[in-house]
Amino acid sequence: MRKQLAAFSFLYFLVISTFAQQVSELAKATTPAIATSRAAALRSPAKVCGACIRAHMEFLASDALRGRGSATPDELIAATYVGSELRQYGIDPAGDDGGYIQRAQLLTRVVNGPPQLTFTIPGNGTPSREIARKHGSEILVLHMSQSEVSGPLQKIDLAAGEQKVKPGAIVFLKAKEGKNPRATMIAAIQAGAAAVLVSEYPSIRERWQETSRQLPQLPSQLKGTAEAGLGEGYNLVVVSQSSVPALEHLPEGTTIHLAAPTTTSDNSYTWNAIGILRGTDPTLQHAAVLLSAHLDHLGIGEPVKGDNIYNGADDDASGTTAVLELARALGAGQRPRRTVIFALFGSEETGGLGSSYFREHPPIPLKDIAANLEFEMIGRPDPALKPNTVWLSGWERSNLGPVLASHGARLAGDPHSDQNFFARSDNYVLAKKGVVAQTVSSFGLHSDYHQPSDDLAHIDFKHMTWAIESLLRPVQWLVNSDFKPKWNKNGKP
Ligand SMILES: [Zn+2]
Repeated sequence: MRKQLAAFSFLYFLVISTFAQQVSELAKATTPAIATSRAAALRSPAKVCGACIRAHMEFLASDALRGRGSATPDELIAATYVGSELRQYGIDPAGDDGGYIQRAQLLTRVVNGPPQLTFTIPGNGTPSREIARKHGSEILVLHMSQSEVSGPLQKIDLAAGEQKVKPGAIVFLKAKEGKNPRATMIAAIQAGAAAVLVSEYPSIRERWQETSRQLPQLPSQLKGTAEAGLGEGYNLVVVSQSSVPALEHLPEGTTIHLAAPTTTSDNSYTWNAIGILRGTDPTLQHAAVLLSAHLDHLGIGEPVKGDNIYNGADDDASGTTAVLELARALGAGQRPRRTVIFALFGSEETGGLGSSYFREHPPIPLKDIAANLEFEMIGRPDPALKPNTVWLSGWERSNLGPVLASHGARLAGDPHSDQNFFARSDNYVLAKKGVVAQTVSSFGLHSDYHQPSDDLAHIDFKHMTWAIESLLRPVQWLVNSDFKPKWNKNGKP
């Protein structure tokens, strides 16, 4: 169902754009006052254009774009729209073949048989032996990020208190009777476990039947790049009570393997939209500024209250709109001293794939990008902050936030330090390669996050317009200044 619908979306777009042209012709003929004021706004470097913000949001977060699913034709439509807007603002194309679009080839891997859990005793040369074979009865794979993973066994008994995870270990957690071990499983992954095996627990026992019918899904990868962009791999396996003794009897350090038969194909793509405004000052040639957001979201998914379109209005049509609006203002003003790159990434939601491709294929050398501001989820205020404030992820990691704040940005530190937002967007992909890269946001952990209800009806346009306006002058200052932000001690990831 989903695939077939996707094939129709190009046609659908053509119909929409012709309709939109007719409507705008009509608007020109009948409402000159509005057309003039919008036109004036379009040329103004000093003010944000409220109508432009609404226009971007109403297109990008509309049901017509079907949630801009990562690596779908809907994502390509969003990228094409962004390129077409950048063209109007006088921003030059910096994608493939003289256009705005940058296309990245992906590898998709499909698990086509039950995953297996086996072991080898190190040094004794015996072939691998099975611990649990029957997927759905003896083991249940909740999540796999690689088609195979192996490592030394580390046994942790949750009843016996805390124990440090050895990085790279396959951790076997013995759950406390009657307790849900989920938090401990996640903590073990974050501490560097290659996989976590857990003995079955009550809440999973209830879901076992239903979950066991599905084989795990593997995330897509960028073709030609081994390194993951965002988020480390994680592998979670539940082991049935009947298979627990087999694991318990193995000595610590036994090599455990988890493998699933997969087929790989490379016939899918993700799309970025990239524009560039060349700076005038040759002394700042190696200090460009990158303004970015992600244009993809979750697409069509499980219906919630009858709605299956995950519009992603806040996440991240709002950030995409901020970058477009800054591009419009910078394009309308005097050419800045520093080069500014505008990048709207695809497939952020599936692991920062678009930004990882950009990082490997930047329009100027990566070392010549002095700062990156990513914009994420500024469509609603964060109740954890003072009114009229937005936060910058990883505030304490560099001097970028404090210096922008001293030039008028209403920026504060991220009030949700336990959420690790610094490592949860495209900025992190670039920061790992040295670029001082941080994310501006006002996400306040609202319950519409990654739900179909993250839609236009829940956008606070007053806040969003204020947020973009508040950043306009600080960004104009940044792109005309000599300031090169630096990581603080231990700030660089
Ligand atoms: Zn996002």
